[in-house]
Amino acid sequence: MAKSNKGMLKEIASERIGILYGIARNEFVGNGDARLATRHVKLMRKISMHYKVKLPKAIKYGVCKKCNYVLVQGKNCTVRVVGKKKVSITTCTNCNATMLAPLRP
Ligand SMILES: [Zn+2]
Repeated sequence: MAKSNKGMLKEIASERIGILYGIARNEFVGNGDARLATRHVKLMRKISMHYKVKLPKAIKYGVCKKCNYVLVQGKNCTVRVVGKKKVSITTCTNCNATMLAPLRP
């Protein structure tokens, strides 16, 4: 019984993570409220850590690891592709943190 309950909790947590990311992105792109978007991202990270749910790759690489900003290409981040290493390097323009992401995750 406990195992199925745990699986259900993880399922709910991952659903909530998706919803929170959607809200954060809409808040940042639509209303330009970075503070509220950052709060949603922090909440999303907390839920992910508490229930030990991995963030989906689209969400993982769509958020700055250092300052929890939602990363939007052409708005607050730059993406360079390094062909030899087969990675893309995303630089957050808010805090200058760089993140490596595989080209084909
Ligand atoms: Zn940042």
